[in-house]
Formats: sequence, C-alpha cells, structure tokens
Amino acid sequence: MSDGAARPFPHRHLLGIEPLSREDILFLLDLADGYVELNRRPEKKLGLLRGLTQINLFFESSTRTRTSFELAGKRLGADVVNMSVSTSAIKKGETLLDTAMTLNAMHPDVLVVRHADSGAVALLARHVACAVINGGDGRHEHPTQALLDALTIRRRKGRIEGLIVAICGDIVHSRVARSNILLLTRLGARVRLVGPPTLVPPALAAYGVEVHHDMRRGLRDADIVMMLRLQTERMRGSFVPSTREYFRRYGLTWEKLEVARPDVLVMHPGPMNRGVEIDGVVADDIHRSAILDQVEMGVAVRMACLDALTRRLREAA
Ligand code: ASP
Repeated sequence: MSDGAARPFPHRHLLGIEPLSREDILFLLDLADGYVELNRRPEKKLGLLRGLTQINLFFESSTRTRTSFELAGKRLGADVVNMSVSTSAIKKGETLLDTAMTLNAMHPDVLVVRHADSGAVALLARHVACAVINGGDGRHEHPTQALLDALTIRRRKGRIEGLIVAICGDIVHSRVARSNILLLTRLGARVRLVGPPTLVPPALAAYGVEVHHDMRRGLRDADIVMMLRLQTERMRGSFVPSTREYFRRYGLTWEKLEVARPDVLVMHPGPMNRGVEIDGVVADDIHRSAILDQVEMGVAVRMACLDALTRRLREAA
C-alpha cells in the first residue's frame, strides 16, 4: 500500500479522474481499504459526517450508484436526501442552473450529481458553494466507478502496475471506459480497448492504449477483462448489425476467455446485458467474476470520497 493516507486531499470537488494525480488516487484507494473492513462488521456506522447534508441529484436513472452513495453517506452519519428527475422541477422546465441555485440555498455540504450531458456536473459545480461529486456525466467521466474498479483489481491481484487490462465493447459511449483508461494508465497498467471499429475508433490509441478489433488478439494474456454495456440510449444510428451478431463476435464466453491468463478476472460495471456483451455463465462464475466485489467496493470507495472531500469542512468546524 502507499503512504498516501498521510497527505491531505487537495481537491474541492471530484469531477473526474483527469485532475487527480497518482498520489490522489492512491490516497482514496488506501482510505477505501479501511472502509471495506468497516462495512464487513455488524456495526457499520461512524459519526464522521454527523450534521452534514448530502444531496444525491440524479437527472439520469441509476440503481447501484445512487444506492451506493446513499449507503456511503448514511454509514458516515450524514443526512442524505435523494432527488431524482421524476420528482424534481426539471420536468416543469427548470434549468440545470436554477436547480443548482435552489439546492445551494438549502446549504448542502455535498452534492452527488448524475446528468446525461458531458460537462453538466462541472458546470453545476461552478454555481454552488459545496463539494460536488460526479456520479456520471454523459459519456465523459464516472470517477467513482473507476476508483471502485481499481480497488477491486488491487485487492484481488495485489497490484495494478504491469497488469494487462482489456476493456471491451462500447468504449465510445462509455464514461466508465474513459475514467478507467485515465486511472489505470496513471497507475501503470497496460490498457487494451477491444471492440468493433464503430465502438472503438482507432484514434483512441492517443490515450496511450492498444486498440484491437478482434477479441482473441485483445484478450490474449489479459489479467483483467472488463466488459461494457452496449449504451443504446446514447447511440444515434446503427453501431452494431444485431445484438446476436454482436454477441457472436464480441460477447464474452468461456471460449473467448481461453486465450487470457488462467487467473483472469472478469468485471462489468452493470447493468449487464446477459447474452449481448457477456454470457450469463461467465458473469456468474464466482471464481472468475468480480462483478459483486465491484458492488461491494463501490460503497467503500464512495465513503472514502465523501470523507476526503469533507475533511476541510470538518477540520474548520
Ligand atoms: N452504470 C454505468 C454508468 O452509469 C455503466 C452503464 O450504465 O453501462 O455509466
């Protein structure tokens, strides 16, 4: 483990992996390691954020991310309020900034925001006085997902540096892929992007990654295979011939995994499309699949982010 936990976290918001240094990432991962242990105890509650208010503002639907942030805030003792688009004034025509100003006037300490537009969370952060965490903005970034993926990998493999990580499927529409590419390359992993040219444009090699359009080549000797959902809600036009054909060429099966390392770990951020990007029997294999570990690590990572971002506030009190 690193000695990162001794240094302060120098950021006011968590808008993406892009602004984080290697040390910032290790600081959050080390902090999260401690929360994994806490979450396994029968008594999980701390009073660290007592008196602080966290609002989860989700303009786009979510099950695991919102629940995970809610649990994380509650386990640290914060008052947590969930606002989803169906119950908000957005439906009545209020703009993003109106919503930001309205919430700001209620003096929250942390806002967790998910929005369908890339950049919307950063825009909102400029208009509020509290810490803002990006819970996923368009196809831009999903920093807590990349952090929880890194924590899962580090705990299962003991390291990240030098591992071959194949991220497969719909890269072009995926904020998860973007945040993971940034984080994993910063921590020294060898990242490969694998999928059809429509979803994995060769220009992505500019991120310092390998690009493959053939699963056998992309998965060869991989330590980690990270499958991504086909994000049809972000597709304009046709990117794949049919889901059946997509599964045949790019869906993860035992057969395709044969070329990876024998101890390969399979990951998926969820929600999964079984029989489209991944065969259900691979996803459910408790020895190879780390999909439920990812969910567990998600709560711990979000606790670490809430802890780190509210430290200055708590120290000033
Ligand atoms: N849950 C992840 C996200 O919000 C991945 C996905 O939706 O496919 O980006």
